[in-house]
Amino acid sequence: MSDSFDVIVIGGGPGGYVCAIRAAQLGLKTAVVESRGNLGGTCVTVGCIPSKALLQSSHLYEEAHHSFASHGIKVGKIELDLATMMARKDDVVKQNTTGIEFLMKKNKISYIKGYGRIAKAERDAHQVTVKDLDGKEATYTTKYVVIATGSEVTPLPGVSIDEKQVVSSTGALTLAKVPKSMVVIGAGVIGLEMGSVWRRLGAEVTVVEFLDFILPPMDGEVRKQMQRILEKQGMKFKLGHKVTGAKPGKDGVAVTIEPAKGGPAETINADVVLVAIGRRPFTQGCGLDAAGVKMSNRGFVEVDENFQTNVEGIFAIGDVIGGQMLAHKAEDEGSVCAEILAGQPGHINYDAIAGVVYTWPEVAGIGKTEEQLKEAGIAYNVGKFPFTANGRARANGDTDGFAKILADAKTDRVLGCHIVGPAAGDLIMEVAVAMEFGASSEDIARTCHAHPQLAETVKEAALAADKRALHI
Ligand code: FAD
Ligand code: NAD
Repeated sequence: MSDSFDVIVIGGGPGGYVCAIRAAQLGLKTAVVESRGNLGGTCVTVGCIPSKALLQSSHLYEEAHHSFASHGIKVGKIELDLATMMARKDDVVKQNTTGIEFLMKKNKISYIKGYGRIAKAERDAHQVTVKDLDGKEATYTTKYVVIATGSEVTPLPGVSIDEKQVVSSTGALTLAKVPKSMVVIGAGVIGLEMGSVWRRLGAEVTVVEFLDFILPPMDGEVRKQMQRILEKQGMKFKLGHKVTGAKPGKDGVAVTIEPAKGGPAETINADVVLVAIGRRPFTQGCGLDAAGVKMSNRGFVEVDENFQTNVEGIFAIGDVIGGQMLAHKAEDEGSVCAEILAGQPGHINYDAIAGVVYTWPEVAGIGKTEEQLKEAGIAYNVGKFPFTANGRARANGDTDGFAKILADAKTDRVLGCHIVGPAAGDLIMEVAVAMEFGASSEDIARTCHAHPQLAETVKEAALAADKRALHI
């Protein structure tokens, strides 16, 4: 392997590997350094992909229990084979990691296995040292370094994660048996997704959340509706509470909680505790300090609008630079960063990045929430349409939720969209495209939507923004 490159990307997650592909497509000699032993990062190995595999399997299990009969499908005794479910999940992960390795070969990208560190920061000739799994070191020279080292679980003081009884999202993806009870700390995306998986498989799940509501960044109406739906499904919530300790023992974990605003402590016992209070940037041992790269006081790498750090030729993308910690945001930053390195202009519209929670029903949001518009003093129109009034949702037997479009009161430009409902994550993408093109809600309303489609709910919400929904 050559020891000199145009670009070395440190970290082979969705940000890093996509950056490497785009750089190679643009003719740059590229290497990607990854220490995990496979490519795909958090997302593919312990994040998006395995969690979605388990969400899908557990959704089918729940459907078999609760929905098949109403469709006139009789099944015998339904049994859970958790080992097979887990093996399927592992296989899905493997298909993805090997697929990415193939993409590296196809694009003639050097895949360097090991831990990367910036050994010397020198304009146009930075040095990156990689320590491989046997401890052997090799040094490479490169014009540009892209830091794409991602994030890690935020620990909670007083609660130590052993990945058996007290687990992070990683341990929650590999439990060997269904716990009778589970306490989830944090009603964010991971808490609700992984909490849903284990509740569907039979655990009694209690979610403890510091704030007075679930899913903090989402639109307020969406948060309330989703909490009601999850409660109806059997998930319990302890809102406005913080966890102050978790003591594992022979009979489970004793979790101490206190009201966030002060008050008497109480103890909840659970077989398993999932800590899901957020993620923090990961830059350990990367040589950033020695290279003089500036970081925020929360540990995020600081970059300018071109993803360049304060050190010329050193760039950073993905979770490690903060913002929405999402795989598609990291991927787009990877592509755009590579285009900038190749001398092209690059641009990301951070106002049109959808956030999706893959519970059932799903939750999806893009652009501004009503709370944000009110705070900014922007006059807006609201169009809302429930799935109960959508023919396809009725046919599917999936009528929980609604779609809501927020449009500028003066110009009708779409400012945001928030959906709770079946396949909300897919449905929101037409609004993402509309927002990218600066569309009005009238543009969505006048677009002919195929019938019978769940997407007609979005069209009707757009019509409702002008008080002329047709089917309600
Ligand atoms: P990462 O994916 O974290 O990749 C960084 C890589 O760098 C890692 O593989 C790490 O091993 C490697 N690395 C670090 N330091 C070094 C070094 N010095 N040398 C070599 N290699 C190094 N996002 C979504 O959009 N949709 C989802 O459904 C979703 N589900 C998730 C579920 C879970 C349980 C979790 C934990 C996260 C989920 N996310 C989801 C978030 C998503 O995984 C991250 O936003 C995304 O992976 C960030 O990509 P990245 O490339 O910045 O970093
Ligand atoms: P999160 O930020 O989504 O939610 C953390 C929750 O924990 C918040 O509601 C917060 O108020 C609460 N919290 C914080 N400290 C607490 C405490 N001491 N006690 C009780 N509650 C506390 O974080 P997450 O769910 O851990 O997810 C991490 C990241 O991974 C997110 O940024 C998310 O974007 C990403 N992710 C995305 C997806 C997806 O896109 N579907 C799925 C999983 C993870």
